[in-house]
Amino acid sequence: MTTQPIYNFCAGPATLPREVMEATAEACRQLEGTGLSLMETSHRSPIFQEVLDAARQLLRELLHIPSDYTILLLGGGASMEFCRIPANLLRRRAAYVNTGVWAAKAQHEAQHWGEVVEVASTERDGYDHVPSQITVPSDVDYLHYTSNNTIYGTEFLHEPEVSVPLVSDMSSDILSRPIQVERHWAIYGGAQKNLSMAGLSFVILSPEALAETPRPLPSILDYRVHRAHGGLFHTPPVVPIFCARQMLRWIKSQGGVPAMERMAVERSRLLYEVLDESRMFRGMARRDSRSRMNISFRIDAERLGGDTTKAAALEAEFIDYCAERDVVGIKGHRLVGGLRASCYNGMPLRGAERLAECMREFESQQIRRGRL
Ligand SMILES: *Cc1c(COP(=O)(O)O)cnc(C)c1O
Repeated sequence: MTTQPIYNFCAGPATLPREVMEATAEACRQLEGTGLSLMETSHRSPIFQEVLDAARQLLRELLHIPSDYTILLLGGGASMEFCRIPANLLRRRAAYVNTGVWAAKAQHEAQHWGEVVEVASTERDGYDHVPSQITVPSDVDYLHYTSNNTIYGTEFLHEPEVSVPLVSDMSSDILSRPIQVERHWAIYGGAQKNLSMAGLSFVILSPEALAETPRPLPSILDYRVHRAHGGLFHTPPVVPIFCARQMLRWIKSQGGVPAMERMAVERSRLLYEVLDESRMFRGMARRDSRSRMNISFRIDAERLGGDTTKAAALEAEFIDYCAERDVVGIKGHRLVGGLRASCYNGMPLRGAERLAECMREFESQQIRRGRL
């Protein structure tokens, strides 16, 4: 690794604290004095069992997960759970909120397992916000929502107020704010944004969620099989689980979830402040739905006489400008274009400050050159 830090705003896989990445790399060289690499260490060895237990215990402690909830760290990612969640939890009908492509994918996969009701959608508005009010039929098993919409930069800062159990894809904001776990049947996601590296899913399940088996399932899809095997039904991704333990230790050392939330508030505030003052950049999400994790923005074509080609060219120029200053990964998702700064738990405040400086300096430079 270089000594000059590179601030990586990539949406995922995403940056992790340097010490977390280094400890994981070191374990791949040699695991805690065993003379073996983590990669060749049995998932049934006592040393790995300790890693797995510690990771689950830290997650339970940091998120205040009740003791009767099951925590699974499984091979896969959020898309794997788009399938396993309804396979295990959808008994007859489930409600889904469509707040973006990931939400729609979760909904689509659920249709393989039962009846799905779309109770709210912000698709017509280009997914620029999350619905403030959701009405759910009383006979649905659960309401599924995507707590943070990574692609658009919108976030539910409060859990939906409904009378049915909640199920949430928290891939991109887990551990960045306190959550009311008891209101959820399930909280799940891919680990590669806020928690660890790619290849791993986290699944937090209430006892009620697992109380019934709606249908016979192949073992690999069955959360109860995974639970019965203590999460070791088959070989789990040992390196990402180790990395998750390091990350959870790091989060704890920083002051836990409240500290992560303070950081998230501060990083995003810095960037939204620049956007709100800017004559050139414009935030893409509606103010009331702004994500603390993914700050989506663009160069406003209206300020350039409606010239969208010019705006796109300036965005490309800005990406290069940032890269020269060790700020990378800010290109927007291919579906929405523009720019996006993903600021997960691993992004230091200094990174957000650096990007804010780049935005201000670039804008001043454009003004000096008479381009604005
Ligand atoms: C990244 C992301 C996904 C996809 O995760 P995979 O692990 O690649 O399947 C799903 N949902 C959300 C909210 C995401 O941010």
